Amino acid sequence: MVTGYDVNARARAQRGTSRRARASSVESPGVVWWLSEAMTDDAKLSFAPLAASITADVCVVGGGFTGLWAAIEIREQSPETTVVLIDSDQCGFGASGRNGGWATGWHDELDGLIAKFGETEALRLAARSSWAIDRIESFSQEHGIDCHFRRQGALWTASAPWQVGSWNPAIEACVRLGRGKYLETLEPAGLKARTGSPVVLAGARQTDAASIQPALLVRGMRRVAHELGVQIFESTPMIGIDRHRPAVVRTPAGQVIAEKVVLATGAWAAQLRELRRAIIPIGSHIVATEPLGRRLDDLAWASGDLLGDSQLMVHYAQVSHDGRIVFGRGGGALGSFGRVLGRHFYDPKTLEEIASDFRRWFPQFADARLTHGWGGPVDRAPGHLPFVGRLDADSEVLYGIGYSGNGVAPSALIGRILGRLAIGLRDEDTDGPLAQGPPGYLPPEPIRSLGGAGVRAAVQFVESRESTIQSRIVHRGLRKLVATRVPPFLDPRKGLSGVGPA
Ligand SMILES: Cc1cc2nc3c(=O)[nH]c(=O)nc-3n(C[C@H](O)[C@H](O)[C@H](O)COP(=O)(O)OP(=O)(O)OC[C@H]3O[C@@H](n4cnc5c(N)ncnc54)[C@H](O)[C@@H]3O)c2cc1C
Repeated sequence: MVTGYDVNARARAQRGTSRRARASSVESPGVVWWLSEAMTDDAKLSFAPLAASITADVCVVGGGFTGLWAAIEIREQSPETTVVLIDSDQCGFGASGRNGGWATGWHDELDGLIAKFGETEALRLAARSSWAIDRIESFSQEHGIDCHFRRQGALWTASAPWQVGSWNPAIEACVRLGRGKYLETLEPAGLKARTGSPVVLAGARQTDAASIQPALLVRGMRRVAHELGVQIFESTPMIGIDRHRPAVVRTPAGQVIAEKVVLATGAWAAQLRELRRAIIPIGSHIVATEPLGRRLDDLAWASGDLLGDSQLMVHYAQVSHDGRIVFGRGGGALGSFGRVLGRHFYDPKTLEEIASDFRRWFPQFADARLTHGWGGPVDRAPGHLPFVGRLDADSEVLYGIGYSGNGVAPSALIGRILGRLAIGLRDEDTDGPLAQGPPGYLPPEPIRSLGGAGVRAAVQFVESRESTIQSRIVHRGLRKLVATRVPPFLDPRKGLSGVGPA
């Protein structure tokens, strides 16, 4: 893994291997606008690599949102607990510093939550997801982190006829259970004007959603964790872990001996034998325009709304604080055998496709310069919801993964669960359904990669031809395939346990 303070080293390393980069319509391909902005005044605080054998009560591995929320929770609840946090690169250089900045709750999935957990628990989880957005807001205010938090909601739209009404089951569930204020159908008339996009046919508005500049949040959290007494070591990859009590986290030039370990390595967790079939790394890519200034005056959502569609390879957008349209698409390359690939950070072909999607969505900005374009790895899980577990029933090694591209807000909840478990605090969250380990497993390799690539190609085929094929039925089938879990006899769950009484 590339180390050091160079925000864009990963991209350059990948660009060097990609001749197609020269033809890119993105000016700085592979360069993360968010991180570039956030690093201008935060590089003064630096953390050296670990070069000794040290002890701590808790060792957190991974300095993205999950690891930092966990470390912060521990120090806030138990200031006497010693916490060491290591990151193989810089805190925030993984998915947390490079995402679309959608901090959204789960009311848009209420029907799915009910199907999985029943009404009572679904309502509780949806409320906790809104709490997670509150937590980001109050935490950043309290600690002077200006992450451009704007809680104005998300426009969830249909960019093809077959997507129209995909929000109806969630809206019906919200209305029936007294949560109607969280999701509302929008009148089609005026939607094109509101979104400024000819591709938008219909839509709904999710109110429990905020847009943020994610790198400013994660780098701010890094500073606060340090101020709270978390000992941070960067450029320090975990290269092995002995799961005894105490556990030993091994790094190239040192080790951390700790009573508890919290693994918060996002998509990289798939490299651990036990978790390889619980998640699959998958790319997601983003382009950002130059600041568009007064040209945004007619774009009603530019003041802080989020805008997205209902595809599996979902499009997502926000307008940054300085007036750039930041436009992304999920469903990128799969990391076979649990690998996080250079292509997850920068894939020239995918970036070109997204640049072209952007111009289709916003033809009025077709001449706008695309100054930045980058990608990152998502930890996709079959159940689509994050989960917390222990590596094995006897170990003190906890992990929290599986956000499936929706982790900006949920990581505050998962980090809180991890932090509390690490210091022995129990409550409804630590004992709830998200803390029961993986809800299912992906097929073994090579079926996982070959099958996944086939399904992905089919999704891309159907979704790129959405205006000509009435693909609702095909799409429903594909959605099921994407969520495939293996039959029980192939299930490796033995040995991977949850942490609570369920
Ligand atoms: C392009 C993109 C767009 C996205 N858009 C959104 C969005 O708009 N809204 C949303 O809710 N979610 C979005 N997501 C998902 C969201 O960003 C993630 O769910 C969330 O950031 C996960 O945080 P994390 O801390 O678990 O993982 P990460 O942020 O990936 O952090 C993991 C950390 O672990 C470190 N690490 C890895 N291996 C090791 C090791 N061996 N030793 C030490 N450290 C290690 C890494 O360097 C990294 O810093 C997006 C993701 C991507 C990639």
